[in-house]
Amino acid sequence: MAKGNIGVTTDNIFPVIKKFLYSDHEIFLRELVSNAVDATQKLKTLASVGDYKGEMGDLKVSVSIDTKKKTLTISDRGVGMTADEIDKYINQIAFSGATEFLDKYKNDANAIIGHFGLGFYSAFMVSKQVEIFTKSYTDAPAQHWSCDGSPEYTLEECNKTDRGTDIVLHIDDEDKEFLEEARINTMLTKYCKFLPVPIAFGKKKEWKDGKEVETAEDNIINNTEPAWTKKPADLKDEDYDKFYHELYPYGENPLFHIHLNVDFPFNLTGILYFPRIKNNIDLQRNKIQLYCNQVFVTDSVEGIVPDFLTLLHGVIDSPDIPLNVSRSYLQSDQNVKKISAHITKKVADRLQEIFKTDRAQFEEKWDALRIFIVYGMLTDDKFYDRAKDFALLKNVDGKLFTFNEYNDLIKTEQTDKDGNLIYLYANNVDEQHAYIESAKAKGYDVLLMDGQLDTHWISQLEQKNEKSRYVRVDSDVVEKLIVKADAAKVTLTDEQQNALIDIFQSQLPKADKTEFLVKMEQLSATDQPIIITQNEFMRRMKDMAATGGNPMMGFYGEMPDSYNVVLNTAHPLVENVLQAEETSCADKVAPFITEIADLEKRRNDIKDGQKGKKDEEIPQAEKDEIENIDKQVGELRNKKKEVYTKFAVGQNKIKQMIDLALLANNMLKGKDLADFVKRSVDLLK
Ligand code: ADP
Ligand code: MG
Repeated sequence: MAKGNIGVTTDNIFPVIKKFLYSDHEIFLRELVSNAVDATQKLKTLASVGDYKGEMGDLKVSVSIDTKKKTLTISDRGVGMTADEIDKYINQIAFSGATEFLDKYKNDANAIIGHFGLGFYSAFMVSKQVEIFTKSYTDAPAQHWSCDGSPEYTLEECNKTDRGTDIVLHIDDEDKEFLEEARINTMLTKYCKFLPVPIAFGKKKEWKDGKEVETAEDNIINNTEPAWTKKPADLKDEDYDKFYHELYPYGENPLFHIHLNVDFPFNLTGILYFPRIKNNIDLQRNKIQLYCNQVFVTDSVEGIVPDFLTLLHGVIDSPDIPLNVSRSYLQSDQNVKKISAHITKKVADRLQEIFKTDRAQFEEKWDALRIFIVYGMLTDDKFYDRAKDFALLKNVDGKLFTFNEYNDLIKTEQTDKDGNLIYLYANNVDEQHAYIESAKAKGYDVLLMDGQLDTHWISQLEQKNEKSRYVRVDSDVVEKLIVKADAAKVTLTDEQQNALIDIFQSQLPKADKTEFLVKMEQLSATDQPIIITQNEFMRRMKDMAATGGNPMMGFYGEMPDSYNVVLNTAHPLVENVLQAEETSCADKVAPFITEIADLEKRRNDIKDGQKGKKDEEIPQAEKDEIENIDKQVGELRNKKKEVYTKFAVGQNKIKQMIDLALLANNMLKGKDLADFVKRSVDLLK
């Protein structure tokens, strides 16, 4: 029997392996099964070039549990190892036999998995003792290696007769979970589902007389030829869908797929799917599975594919992605950058191809595709440049247009006096119905922009396309959405305007975090008497604050919603209010108005006298007088307001006009709505 020290420099590497080498203990199984698969693939390679001429037999890899002995065994019928090889590949840690083998058989090596370096030693993460029973495909005698986790091992001949290797793990007491069938089954399905050699774990079971019994048939846990390893020409759409369900058993059929296949300047295969996702981006990440030569590595592809493509589903298999490095390193790796750019390009190519060859299909799937494309355009300039030719704009009638088509459609009607192209949009067809209708009546087209990312998308489109502006259809009265000439002037006196403001302001609803500002416009007699609009800029800022992004935006989120209440001074109803007000209030407010005018004149005189003086040169008496005047003016204004309010309360038509405007905006709710209905009935009497 040989005894020796495992060739590592530190005294005891095992505690290190146990604790730090891999964060995830369960990957030991991936490593050992991969080694078994490697050994099997090596044998096939040797046979194919004539270096091995013996029988091949059944080449499956078996995983088995012995609960009595507390062992987990991984057996293969691959190349096995001679005593020398054990010494070289096992005893000298980190000397990867796979690298050497790959060098020698560069062109034939059937996908050797062993890229991970210290794979074999991960067995010690869960074992108190590891044994190897192995017989090389050559005539060399079989060997038994054993090590209890100290740097000492034993190596002796044994009487194994069958070619191949059994790795026997004596599982630690604290890792007993790895002796449970269900646990191992889950791990095998996770990591080994698509390995290229059949992996058997126990026997298939079936239900007989209400009991689950074992059959004679091996329970093979993997599909050795997953779709991505085949040629696209050999696959039909159904095959892609079938494979999708192998990956995601509960998923809906995907929209379409992209088969990736590159061998220069890096190796990469895979299939990506556009899933049918609805709206919530964040819940959908981490669906792409990353493989290295058919061994599952991770489903966190962040840094490897561009952010917007982490929404896709599918698999990527590449031996060229350095997997045992940190994520931050990964992002700066040149190969990874190229891979990421390549995937983006492929996705754009495929979308463009479908758009060109089958626009009907593309349009039909647009709603589901939109979120990827918009997200991609927002986060990836290269993708934007490609996507601007196939991204679609949808109008409120459900018609779809490319950017160019839409420009052609609206340029005659929707160019303003400064030559800006105005894109009108709605984000809620029900709530903005009245505005949409009046825009349409004017010959405008209205886009539907109700996507999760649309506030950001709109800003981007405005930045990318000079002389284009997006205006939400309810942000102003229709005449002013697209300003084509200077607007008609309001002809009322200041005092008339102030009266109207006080009258209408007093009847507007009072709600927390909502602010109404009464304004006047000389529209046409056939327009509505009152129109409620929301400032486009403020609203957008609030929307952006709501969807996150710039933390500075938080400020806007705190602001109240502010609406403009536009009185149409050309409307007979508004004119009537003004006339009625003059009849019933003029006498009552006249003294206040005179008094205010007097006070203001006095104030102006004082202020004129103070011009050019420094604050300390102004006598205190003057300061006090100004303060006093301001106070009096405030009080008088309030008295005037009281008169108008009393008038307004007596005129139920005023409240009715306001409520109609609120109603058109879907802003009349609860008790206010009930009051409105009751008042409407009264008015009909
Ligand atoms: P790697 O797989 O990256 O080479 P490992 O530590 O996993 O590193 O394995 C070291 C070496 O031990 C392998 O390259 C191989 O030569 C040998 N080896 C491990 N397991 C087996 C096995 N089941 N059959 C034959 N050789 C094996
Ligand atoms: Mg390995």
